[in-house]
Amino acid sequence: MAKLYFRFGAMGSAKTLNLLAVAHNYRQQRKKVLLIKPQIDLRFGANAITSRAGLTCDADLLVSEKSYFTLKGNDLISHDSLKKDQKNEIVLDNKLDYSCFLVDEAQFLTKELVEALYEITILCNIPVIAYGLKTDFRNFLFEGSKRLLELSDTIEEIKTTCFYCEKKATHNIRLIGEKPVFTGETVDIGADEKYRPCCKMCLHKLKSR
Ligand SMILES: [Zn+2]
Repeated sequence: MAKLYFRFGAMGSAKTLNLLAVAHNYRQQRKKVLLIKPQIDLRFGANAITSRAGLTCDADLLVSEKSYFTLKGNDLISHDSLKKDQKNEIVLDNKLDYSCFLVDEAQFLTKELVEALYEITILCNIPVIAYGLKTDFRNFLFEGSKRLLELSDTIEEIKTTCFYCEKKATHNIRLIGEKPVFTGETVDIGADEKYRPCCKMCLHKLKSR
């Protein structure tokens, strides 16, 4: 049976680079991979999956909070909370010869989409590897990450170093200018200048300045 993987890491831990390397390896072997990206992330254009190291690749499928998957006419997961006209149906029948689904910025998936991806591993026997942040800058789980932690067969940490010292980064600091901020909305996607990986001790020091 195929597995659902959640590979999480702080900002700047090369999650997207890892995803692009996995996609490259599959394609080198002439195997098909489906690159999925939540539509919320428009940093580098709607379609592009871009790592900070500069590599880029177009997403094959953009998903939103209105997206849902169907398989042979049946919903993989019910979305009773959505009105019919709000739905954005993604039919999987022509995607079943894929060797793997790869998801970038998976923290922005809805819990329903994570559940659908989980079912795809069972019903379609396609492995799904989701890359994303675990927690936001206030240290709360993202909706997608919470469901991924609950459902994934394999959970792996992609490690990186704290921006301020040599310890492992476990948190994401939000900066406005050079000033750390600890309040605000969860979703405010930024590039390097807005977020930094940080360890627990440095977070404590910054907070108590
Ligand atoms: Zn530190």
